[in-house]
Amino acid sequence: MLNFDESPKEECGVIGIFAPNEDVARMTFFGLYALQHRGQEAAGMAVADGQTISMHKGLGFVSHVFTPNVMADLQGHYAIGHTRYSTTGSSSLRNAQPFMIETIHGPLALAHNGNLVNSAELRQELMQQGVGFSSSSDTEVMTMMLARNGGATWEERIKTAMKKWVGAYSLVILTRDCVYAVRDPWGFRPLCIGMLPSGGHAVASETGALQTLGCEAIRDVKPGEVVSLSNNALKVMQAVKPEQPSAMCVFEHIYFARPDQTWDGINVHHVRQRLGEELAREVINGLGHGLTDENGRFADVVIPVPDSSVPAAIGFSHVTGIPYNDGFIKNRYVGRTFIEPTDSLRKRGVALKFNVINENVRDKRVVMIDDSIVRGNTTGPLIKLLKNAGAKEVHVAITCPPIAHPCFMGVDMGRHEDLIAHKRTVEEIREYVGADSLYYLSVDGMMKAVQRKDGFCQACFTGQYPIPVDLMSVKTGFERGTK
Ligand code: SF4
Repeated sequence: MLNFDESPKEECGVIGIFAPNEDVARMTFFGLYALQHRGQEAAGMAVADGQTISMHKGLGFVSHVFTPNVMADLQGHYAIGHTRYSTTGSSSLRNAQPFMIETIHGPLALAHNGNLVNSAELRQELMQQGVGFSSSSDTEVMTMMLARNGGATWEERIKTAMKKWVGAYSLVILTRDCVYAVRDPWGFRPLCIGMLPSGGHAVASETGALQTLGCEAIRDVKPGEVVSLSNNALKVMQAVKPEQPSAMCVFEHIYFARPDQTWDGINVHHVRQRLGEELAREVINGLGHGLTDENGRFADVVIPVPDSSVPAAIGFSHVTGIPYNDGFIKNRYVGRTFIEPTDSLRKRGVALKFNVINENVRDKRVVMIDDSIVRGNTTGPLIKLLKNAGAKEVHVAITCPPIAHPCFMGVDMGRHEDLIAHKRTVEEIREYVGADSLYYLSVDGMMKAVQRKDGFCQACFTGQYPIPVDLMSVKTGFERGTK
């Protein structure tokens, strides 16, 4: 399989809807469509009609998985949906979501964004009690725990399970007559809720999906909350105490979320623009006067690596006065393909995904803005494309600090040894990728851009994990084949 993108992979997007008198499956389809950027490997949907749950999931884009015939069988007022991210490692359909089982309390389906850091122990405990598993996913562990927990209601059973779950989870849970939205007490992953114009509510990973459905009065599901969607009034329970400070994933702002997402009152596009502005200030402060020309500029054009770096490049251009322009055109359909390229095409690597607008970079000193360098496989080829197109110099500015530590909260960044910043200094990375200069934003600059002093997880940059992580025993989501 071909995958040219070395960016960190988001594990998924989730959505849940209670909409009486509406075609809830169709609404879920459009909500998933708006969450497609959070996962392109698989999509799934479960719909309840008050008695039973019907489910369909499959590999590929939302529009491929849900044909009109499939949708016709998904009838009811309650639904949850899931888009799963693409990975090269795990067996796909087995780990696709929602995950559904029959329980003594009725059918139960669950879709998850995140990763439990203690799922190996919880799985072991369940296996010792005779529970068998059909996938490597921690979502199955969570589902089994819910099915076995004591308690008179699903709220009570969810609350009991939350006390044992350690890690990142933004969940949507479907029973035969209710949708539950659940967020971990650290608030790692986003989850927001809004009121539908026709009555009922919807919950989703991003506000953009709720806007697509016409939702109003949108708010975050708060860390530690369980929200029940089963009639026109929301039922909210603070199931576990929120952790202080919270640990929202700062990478949502840097890369994952769509720019129209507003999370905890902060808009992603604005953060990205400020990331570019802070980065520009740091670059200017770090430059000797000898490196700038008679206009005080060290480059002729700022170009983004599309799409996530566009707002940052605009911000960088504002502060430095270096004109912004497009340099790359991205082929949006190359993210993942099941057709193996020929050897000669494979050698072209990122050239299959990006074309350069030669006229915009020829004979110019270029600043290329990118959101991150993870393994270091893409930056060098991008620089080469620019140089082949006639760029005189290529300076690279990255809108986050060096990623030197893996994520155990569900983002596939690989292991320590895979991360280029774990093995090399900034100067060594510059030399490796072939840039004329290389700049990373500092942790302080990043926090200025998100306009918070704390409340965000920054562990992939600092190595300071907000929850205790046994580095020797915990494997990454990638290795475990979870979401
Ligand atoms: S380690 Fe990085 S990617 Fe993972 S939750 Fe923390 S900030 Fe996000």
